[in-house]
Amino acid sequence: MRNIKIGVLALQGAFIEHEHMLTDLGAVCTEIRQPSDLTGLDGIVLPGGESTVQGQLLHKSGLFTPLRKLISDGLPTLGTCAGLILMAQEISNPVADRTIQEKAAPTAHLGTLPVTVRRNAYGRQLSSFVTEQPIAGIGNYPMIFIRAPYIERTDVNVEILAKVDGNIVAVKYKNQIGLSFHPELSENSNIHEWFLSQCEK
Ligand code: GLN
Repeated sequence: MRNIKIGVLALQGAFIEHEHMLTDLGAVCTEIRQPSDLTGLDGIVLPGGESTVQGQLLHKSGLFTPLRKLISDGLPTLGTCAGLILMAQEISNPVADRTIQEKAAPTAHLGTLPVTVRRNAYGRQLSSFVTEQPIAGIGNYPMIFIRAPYIERTDVNVEILAKVDGNIVAVKYKNQIGLSFHPELSENSNIHEWFLSQCEK
């Protein structure tokens, strides 16, 4: 058991899988559903799922402003897939690829990570795949992409950790790690271990 408490945003999407991986590594996990869940955290995970739905729920739950503040104030944060979209400063196609249902809802994203992402960048239908590629500081890693975004632009201070077919799929900026793929669905916990080591500092 390690003395680290990680808050996993649990409004929608693949949050349980992150919790399993983090607790296997000895961390304590707590599910974030309301502002009072944000106290005493050493790190935050923003899981994959549907970023438009998550953004709406962030507003409804009152989490949007306090969560954004914690991340911009420096709390270590890991965002995967939809979580990366939530962190991105800019979404290049917020409307074009959205369903009618999605179009009815405003796009809400935290905007703490100075990158531009393209949602559903691999197309909406035949868009899930697995590939093993190197990640800087981690080594070869099995990357699982599910209707994933990729990163089209980064600010100069953003560290690019991995590319697939020339597109950026993993970045680090100060306390924030953003990934296009789903490390919590793989058998390899090296990314979560690396994240926990940042939370321990
Ligand atoms: N396509 C989703 C979105 O735009 C992300 C998919 C995922 O998190 N696996 O929010």
